[in-house]
Amino acid sequence: TRRKLVVGNWKMHGSHAANAELLQGILAGGPVNADLAVCVPFPYLSEVAVTLANSNVAWGAQDVSAHEQGAYTGEVSAGMLREFGCRYAIVGHSERRAYHGETDQVVADKAKAALSKGITPIVCVGETLAQREAGETEAVVKRQLSAVIHALGHCVGEMVVAYEPVWAIGTGKVATPEQAQAVHALLRAQLRAAAPQADNMKILYGGSMKPDNAPTLLAQPDIDGGLIGGAALKAADFLAIARAA
Ligand code: 13P
Repeated sequence: TRRKLVVGNWKMHGSHAANAELLQGILAGGPVNADLAVCVPFPYLSEVAVTLANSNVAWGAQDVSAHEQGAYTGEVSAGMLREFGCRYAIVGHSERRAYHGETDQVVADKAKAALSKGITPIVCVGETLAQREAGETEAVVKRQLSAVIHALGHCVGEMVVAYEPVWAIGTGKVATPEQAQAVHALLRAQLRAAAPQADNMKILYGGSMKPDNAPTLLAQPDIDGGLIGGAALKAADFLAIARAA
């Protein structure tokens, strides 16, 4: 059985004071039977690294450059993230695809750049409401994952995948456990065709996961954890989800 992974995506939230309070709250919760991580805004990585050093909570970024170095104003490289002890980088979040024009190919290149520096990319895929209603969910997530599989080659087994239906993000409209499991099973099948380690790979669910809906989602056979937005900003909620894992 795969150990569950619960990741908080803080998005563009936080401050020195708020981060300290949130992390102290998480650390005070004591050990849980799941791997935990927080993906924080870039400027806070160094303080988070200090706070979480020697804890059971890993940390990461919410994006990474596809480029190794150079004239890319505003970007942050995987090598830099590595220096701050990042274990993870979220890649291809739907907010970046939608607001920053990230294509499947850019997402794939970012995932590859992360892995090249030993950072585990958490690759997000997911359909919009219009795509779901048009019956395109399977084709969309397949296309999104396929680009990454192609770019990573023999390293496919080292990524984490997150299924985040866009219509469920920040809306309070959660996918039913059956809806989520169905897509996770498709993604697992696609990974099996590409990586011998597919059955050990983690596929997280994200989209309005909360303490009340987490237990049934996390009980699905192909849901290996959560990528948590809003509920990751409250220590009690984040911990409650982690305890359900
Ligand atoms: P919410 O949990 O706020 O819906 O956000 C999910 C998400 O986008 C995590 O990456």
